[in-house]
This record gives sequence, C-alpha cells and structure tokens, in this order.
Amino acid sequence: MKVTFLGAAKTVTGSSFLIETEHSKLLVDCGLFQGGRAKERNAKSISFDSKEIDFVLLTHAHIDHSGLIPKLIKDGFRGEVHATEPTVDLCGIMLPDSGYIHEMEANWKNRKRMRSNKPKVEPLYTAEDAYNSFGHFREQKYEQLVTLTPEIAFKFHDAGHILGSSILELWITEDGKQNKLVFSGDLGKPNQPIIKDPSIVEEADYLFLESTYGTRIHEDETTRSEKLAQVINETMKAEGNLIIPSFAVGRTQDLLYTINKLITEDKLESIPDVYIDSPLAISATEIFRRHPSMYDLKTRKFILDGESPFDSPYVTYTRTAEASKELNERQKGAVIISASGMCEAGRIKHHLKHNLWRSESTVLFVGFQAQGTLGRRILDGEKDVRIFGEEIAVKCRIESLDGFSAHADRDQLIDWVNKFVDKPDKIFLVHGEESVIKEFSKTVYDNTGIETYIPELGETVYVTKTVESIPKDNKTTVKERIKSLLEQWELESSLIQERLLALYDICESEVSEKELQNIEKQMRTLRKKLRQYRNREE
Ligand SMILES: [Zn+2]
Ligand SMILES: [Zn+2]
Repeated sequence: MKVTFLGAAKTVTGSSFLIETEHSKLLVDCGLFQGGRAKERNAKSISFDSKEIDFVLLTHAHIDHSGLIPKLIKDGFRGEVHATEPTVDLCGIMLPDSGYIHEMEANWKNRKRMRSNKPKVEPLYTAEDAYNSFGHFREQKYEQLVTLTPEIAFKFHDAGHILGSSILELWITEDGKQNKLVFSGDLGKPNQPIIKDPSIVEEADYLFLESTYGTRIHEDETTRSEKLAQVINETMKAEGNLIIPSFAVGRTQDLLYTINKLITEDKLESIPDVYIDSPLAISATEIFRRHPSMYDLKTRKFILDGESPFDSPYVTYTRTAEASKELNERQKGAVIISASGMCEAGRIKHHLKHNLWRSESTVLFVGFQAQGTLGRRILDGEKDVRIFGEEIAVKCRIESLDGFSAHADRDQLIDWVNKFVDKPDKIFLVHGEESVIKEFSKTVYDNTGIETYIPELGETVYVTKTVESIPKDNKTTVKERIKSLLEQWELESSLIQERLLALYDICESEVSEKELQNIEKQMRTLRKKLRQYRNREE
C-alpha cells in the first residue's frame, strides 16, 4: 500500500492523505491549505483524478481537514464521505461558508481584473458546490466497525478536539497481510470544556500523529480561566473593547462556556457585553446544542445545575450584518468574539480595523496562527497591517492564551502515544510546522523509543508490514492455538505488569480511571479466551 502526503506535511493546514491499495484509493481528510502559498497548494492538492477515489474518511469538520471536499466532488468524485454525525452537521454549515468566501474573493479579484482588462478567475468552489456535496456524506458512530470493502475496514474514536472529532483506526488487508494504520486526526487534550477527553487506542502498525504543539506546554484549565478573567477585567478598566479572533467551531463555544462560568462564579469585576459576531459560530453553537450526548460529565453537571454553557443575559448573538456594523461604533465595555480564527476572512477583520489602533482595546489570540496569516503578523508584533486595503497601526494591547487550544500539547501527545500497548512500528509526524516537527521528532523517539518519519509535502511512501501475518488456514490445532495464546498472554501480561508497576509509582491523582478500567478489561478478555480454549481441549 502507498500513502501520499498531499497536505499537512511540514505544515499545519491542508490535511489530506491518499492511500492506494491493490484495489482501492481512499483519502483520509481532504482539507484546505490556509496562510502562505495557500492558493498554489490548494490547486496542487487535488493532483490526482478525483473520479478514481473510492472513499473519503473525514476525521473532523475543521476546514483544514474538510475544506477541499466540494472541490473533489466538483472534479468528479462519486464515492462516499464517512464522518461522525456532528461532523456531518458541522460540514453542513462550514463548507457552504467556505464556498461563499471563495466566491467573494473571486468577485473582488474579478472587479479589479475587469478594470485592467484581464480574464476572470474562477473561485476554487462555490457555496452551491458545497451544497451539492452533502449527498455524499455518510454518518457513522464512534466505536463502530465499518467494513468498506473485503480489504478495508475502519473505526472512529472520539478525538476530544472539537464536537464529533475522530481518531481513525484503519485496517487494510493485502496479500493476506493486515496492516493497521491509526490517524490521530487533530488530537484534543484532557479537560477541554464541553467535549470528552481523547480516546485511547492500544495498537497500531503505523501511526500518523499530529504535531501542532509538539514543542509547547499549555496552561491548565484554571490558569487559562484566570488569565482570561484578568484580560477581561483589565480591558474593561482601560475602557476599551476586547476582540477575540476565534474559530467558529469549538473555540467560540469553549470561550462562551468559560465566560459564562466566570460570570456565575463572580470572577469578573464588571460584566461586559459579550457578542458572538459570526453567523457561522452562531450556527455551530446550534449544532453543539443538538448533541448533548457528546458533552463531558462536567458540562452535563453544569446544565443539571440549571446553568447554560451557551446562554446568559450578557451574551448577544449578532446574526445580521447591520447588528455587526453597529459594533463598529462601540468604544468600550464589549467582548467581541468573531471569526475567522486566523483573521484571514469574516467579520473579525472589521473589528480589528476599528480596534487595532486604539491603545485602550485588547486583541486576544486563543488559537494557533499559521504562518502568513494576518493573525500571525499581528501576533508577531508588526506595527502596521493592511486590512481592506487600508494601512492600520497596531497600538492596542496584544495578548495570547494557548490554554484555549483544542490540541494536545507536547506532553499530552507523548502520554497518548505511550498508552499504546502494542506500539506502532513507525510514527509519521504530520500537521506541524517544520521547525516544531523536527524537535518533536526527537522528543517522540526519546520518550517512546518509536522510530519517527517526517514526510515531505507530496511525498509517497510504501507501507508494508514485514512481520506477523493473518493465519490463512484453519488447520492449526487447538493445542497450537493455546500455545500461541499462552505466548501472547505472557507478552501481554508482562506489558500489563510493567504498566501497572509504572502506575504504582506515580502520584495517585495522575492515574486515570479510564486506563485502569482498560487494563482490567484487557485482563478479563485474556482470561476468558484462555478459559475457552482450555475447555475445548478437554
Ligand atoms: Zn482541527
Ligand atoms: Zn487541523
């Protein structure tokens, strides 16, 4: 089998991996590049014949993972796109929004080109192309094995990154040999607001691991709430506005929930007016409301206590353009959460235009800013930026809180990898900037002993397992099977024993209930199997 890294190789955006087996071609994610060289990379990403692709397995709705699906379909893809139910719901709003942005950009360029008598440019795809793609989506549940062909099966697990996000387990059989590929997708971190913690996967032959924050350690939940309260309090005192560029999906809902908690816990000196100024974020919040079964226990308890993660008398959702424009007049006392998260498009650009030059206002970054984006330029300290063709001085306070990131940090990534009982032969490091991936690669090897590989953009690798193959005949005697089970038992029990001893040594509060339950389950399964075969022999 061959894997081609069409995106997210030595870069964060454009996640897309082409897997070619003897009989099938499938894509894991089909994402849009953002930031520097995005246009050229997006055009190149679908360099294959879209008609030849049989399936797409989509890890989550973020546009850097899903944003080229309408283009794929426009180019002739006829297959199915498998994703979880919330991912399908979220794509239902995000893909048309992305199509609309491409149309607007093309219109803007074409107005200019018309004036200089140049030929028109076509948008990458339109909102209509996005609507046309919906018929291809198939909803799948977490933890359910889906057989695509006799050779290919997969399972989604909760990745704890955004609502509906998945880790993908993919089994591919060729020549009687089975390979198991695991894609971490974007991996969340424990204790993220609203959603559950990332699931643990126990075995893989090859792991494709995201590396976004492979060199960073995040603030914990308490520090991050405290810092947010501090920034709100100080900005309100300075009589300015707090502008938060935020991804419409996930981050905005986390912020809302955290601010609502700060209000109910009386942590704000004066309560600001909070505006969610992004039609996409408003629609996304509606989808969050529809899937309470995906919430974690803390959020469910918050709701049981009569509170709401997304509503309070201080929160206003501004859907219309008029309501949004009124915010331009606002001088102080407002917290404006608006998209896009990297300031490349959307209403946030208006709020930056009206606040960047005011020393009393604050711009707070709560998410990753890719190289080449407006957000990154502001965060890197540029003194002037161009917004809507106008030079704007950056004089306001610039703050950044990466505790709101929906990605696991360095230690959390390593912890997750170390939970594999049957360790992968190799880890392909993806979804990270080059300098980060290089350093992270060393960290992974030093802390897990697993070999890593850093793929280039567009690189193809052969993935074939050399050891272990599925037994082909049924002639193996019961005794032989018991013997092999006993060997397996020995190996697995020694691994379990090792892990238990390691757990025994660490602080009690750090031992997760989930892992203990997992170990108990493993032991029960082994015991059961062994008993079955012993009985059969007798
Ligand atoms: Zn994501
Ligand atoms: Zn991503």
